[in-house]
Amino acid sequence: MPRFKTHLVISAAAGSAYSLAIQACRQSLNPNLPQEINPIHAAVCSLAAAIGGCAPDVFEPADRRTGPNHRGKLHSFAVGAAAVKGAHFLAICETGSVNERWFADIAGAFYAGYVSHLAADALTPKGLNLVCKGC
Ligand SMILES: [Zn+2]
Repeated sequence: MPRFKTHLVISAAAGSAYSLAIQACRQSLNPNLPQEINPIHAAVCSLAAAIGGCAPDVFEPADRRTGPNHRGKLHSFAVGAAAVKGAHFLAICETGSVNERWFADIAGAFYAGYVSHLAADALTPKGLNLVCKGC
């Protein structure tokens, strides 16, 4: 079972990767944008993803009694698929507002961190549930 620090590092890296990918994609689609990576954007997305990467274990915490058996609906492939779709939708949604763009990027990075948590948990022997325990 990955520990809190492991999830924090993996999800922060996922947020940075998410930021770099959407910035590079946006710049390639619109040559009028400044052709440089915004480090503040990457840092904010990394922080948002770190929060998203810790969220599943905050809402479904493991304790000594349950151990890795704490994984419920929030630790499922179904929620993971919804999070992937959410991150993708937010990455490609178009808006002319800078504030809306930032909000969408931060929310997308949160989802990217969430998915990184589920991916790390899926690689453990306990894995993830399809929907929930016993479903
Ligand atoms: Zn977990």
